[in-house]
Amino acid sequence: MNSPDTNRDTNSVPKPGPASGTGGAGDAAVICSAKGCRAAAVWVLAWNNPKLHTPERRKTWLACEEHREHLSNFLALRGFLKDVVPLAEWEAANRP
Ligand SMILES: [Zn+2]
Repeated sequence: MNSPDTNRDTNSVPKPGPASGTGGAGDAAVICSAKGCRAAAVWVLAWNNPKLHTPERRKTWLACEEHREHLSNFLALRGFLKDVVPLAEWEAANRP
């Protein structure tokens, strides 16, 4: 039996720019969805447009600390916003 969940360090692709981060978890950079923002996302905004999506469908936006309120207000004003979840929590919940 192989253990399926070992860390994959074989694909270490060098990235341009400063390698700032919080300990290097190895995840791909998750960037805020706000226009022009390149900050790391820390929030997931789950939303649904009832005119386009079935009720169970969830679209997600990612937001940094700074844009969480702006983006969630944008969605809330339209009645689209369903949930605001910390990214770590969202990933844990959506991981097998
Ligand atoms: Zn942002």
